[in-house]
Amino acid sequence: MPQVITRFAPSPTGELHIGGARTALFAWAYARRHAGRFLLRLEDTDQARSSEASAASMLRDLQWLGLDWDNADDVPRQSQRLALYHERIDKLMQADLAYEDDGAIRFRMDRPIAFDDAVYGRVSIEAADLEDFVIRKGDGFPTFHLAVVVDDADMGVTHVIRGQEHLSNTAKHAALYDALGYDRPVWAHTPSIMNPDGSKMSKRDKAKAARAAALKQGAAGGVFEQKDVQAFLKKENDDPRIAARVADGLGLALPEIEVADFRRSGYLPGVLLNYLSLLGWNPGGDVERFDLGFLVEHFGLERINKANSKFDRDKLKRFNFDTLMAMPEAELAAKVKDHLAAQHPAFTERFDDGQLARFVAMYRERAQTLDDYAAAGRFFVEPPTEYVEKAVKKNLTRNDNEGLGVLRRFSETLAALDGWEAPALHAAIESFVQQHGLKNMGAVAQPLRVALTGAAVSPPIDQTLELLGRDETLDRIRRCLEALT
Ligand code: GLU
Repeated sequence: MPQVITRFAPSPTGELHIGGARTALFAWAYARRHAGRFLLRLEDTDQARSSEASAASMLRDLQWLGLDWDNADDVPRQSQRLALYHERIDKLMQADLAYEDDGAIRFRMDRPIAFDDAVYGRVSIEAADLEDFVIRKGDGFPTFHLAVVVDDADMGVTHVIRGQEHLSNTAKHAALYDALGYDRPVWAHTPSIMNPDGSKMSKRDKAKAARAAALKQGAAGGVFEQKDVQAFLKKENDDPRIAARVADGLGLALPEIEVADFRRSGYLPGVLLNYLSLLGWNPGGDVERFDLGFLVEHFGLERINKANSKFDRDKLKRFNFDTLMAMPEAELAAKVKDHLAAQHPAFTERFDDGQLARFVAMYRERAQTLDDYAAAGRFFVEPPTEYVEKAVKKNLTRNDNEGLGVLRRFSETLAALDGWEAPALHAAIESFVQQHGLKNMGAVAQPLRVALTGAAVSPPIDQTLELLGRDETLDRIRRCLEALT
């Protein structure tokens, strides 16, 4: 048996899509399972749409996922291999298997052909459905069909594992393999990943979501007057960058579609891969949670499904939450720290490691993703700029500004307090409640919460105060009193 060689061959025309990551994962796992090689290749013959930035981001995302490739020193780019393609095209011309037509070159697809797919089974193309197809375009560039076959053969690829959208191209590829005298590889096409509504999961989903929200909410901010946004709203394009701007203007979170989106949302790469591996494959039995080591041990083409799979965000969230909960505290704190440092540096600028550990402990039971920490604890790094009206009424201004009075007097207690640790703060609140004949701790804690966060929710008030620090706490109380009296 020759060594197994698989590859992932993205076109660098955007960011790495979650479906691409799943395809890469299967190709990687198959190579690792068989002690083979997993290679990367950049299919950048579409010069207008390909970019260096996209290529770099794809490599970065694969790295983040932990899918290592074995040709890191020399990742082939199709744009640099034109001589090779031309040589093979000449060979086909000389054998009269291809001919010139209007400046392009076409391959003669004149015999019925069949191939076997490891997932979809035998596929046959009847004589009536055969059509000569272009292998070199008028601009001199090879087409995808020619380049993919020449490259896979040249790189010794034994197993072509790729998205199901290429199944219909594969008869052409099989014919080219035969005509060029190459051994055919094993083909395995993977089912598509669908949204819950049955549409294919695609980066256009972001545009759809942004547009729908924009139309529903009407004008928001200046974004809508911009020309490109106007065109976007009229469905003239689906540019994800415009979608992001519109979403920003509306305070809307777009659905995660690309790997980078999931990273920014704070999913763990191992969890994402675990979940992705279940889209179109399963290890049998009831086993659902596993690591890459398990996948490598169990992965095989025979358990890939034909049926498309649905992307279930809630399930992914549960996987992520359970994994975060199961982590030793120090490991979790380190993960949160890395995430915050990369995505929300205000937190790591403000908190030292000890404070960060306490911050993580406060939100641990509720944070489903690493980014939930930043969302829930935002007020620690950003003082409130406004106060929720309902919370103000209920906790500060009701009964002739009772809460504001509590705040004013308690801030004097806080200013004079010895020490600033949670137990001392807790005791201070308790004795203040007794001294002033208040109902309960909430009579102090709720006014504090509004002043410190802008709303009436926070972790236990003593811990919140401790972490916020004395100066910041007193400052925020002062500003709240100024704003409301
Ligand atoms: N560049 C192709 C794509 O991104 C890959 C085709 C293949 O894997 O053969 O869809």
